Amino acid sequence: MGQTGALTFAEIAPEVFVLRHPVLDVNATLVVGGEVGAVVDTLSTEAQAIELLAAIRAVTAAPLIIVNTHHHFDHCYGNGVLAAASMGCAIWAHEAAAATLREHGPRLQRAWYEEFLPTKPDLAEELAAVDVVPPNRTVHTESTIDIGGRLLELRHLGRGHTEGDLVEQGAPPSFGDSYPLDWPETVTALLHLVSPSTAVIPGHGSVVDLDFVRAQHDELTELAWLIREGDADGATPAAVAAKAPFGHGAALTAIKRGYAELSGRI
Ligand SMILES: [Zn+2]
Repeated sequence: MGQTGALTFAEIAPEVFVLRHPVLDVNATLVVGGEVGAVVDTLSTEAQAIELLAAIRAVTAAPLIIVNTHHHFDHCYGNGVLAAASMGCAIWAHEAAAATLREHGPRLQRAWYEEFLPTKPDLAEELAAVDVVPPNRTVHTESTIDIGGRLLELRHLGRGHTEGDLVEQGAPPSFGDSYPLDWPETVTALLHLVSPSTAVIPGHGSVVDLDFVRAQHDELTELAWLIREGDADGATPAAVAAKAPFGHGAALTAIKRGYAELSGRI
């Protein structure tokens, strides 16, 4: 994976820290309460999770709980390492993400191994070696956790990138498991929670703000309309992608997902 140097958290709000990992530009967040540290997402591999744990321990010695934003490996494959470091650790996720990891864990692990083997063989081997620990606490629509003088609210606002995270910076949103027709409305629900002073930590990339989320919402809305119109006109995904935001490759994936959604296939 190359030398990345010691990874450290940056404090972006009082006792809220973000670690942006160079592999896949993915974010892990640490929220420190009076009794517990909550780690949101745990990176891709056991080696990365060991680095993450060292960075956490440079900030707090508190026992940990884990929150997974969604079931993709880059957000939850470090669960086992962090859970082992904090005995009996609660691992929270939306019920769909937890069920996917429980029921389809080995199939997904193999699919990701095969996806990365041609281009990133080291990462592929590390993914295959992970002992995947699924969430043991689930969120239906909203759960509140007291981490010691501080309440952490976990909310599921709807489907988007998956049945989980919603905003991505630094690269086009990843549409492979997405619900492009639902995504704009879910981001609208997120916008109700965001004020001009709110820091929004995306799944990937740098910390963003209200303006960024609004702009991404507008692009997702444009894409959803193009998908609906293209479906009504019988247009090919490639023809629709030529007019769509986010670049041809990402748009093409989104349009195929959207057509599948409209025809009831997903
Ligand atoms: Zn993802």
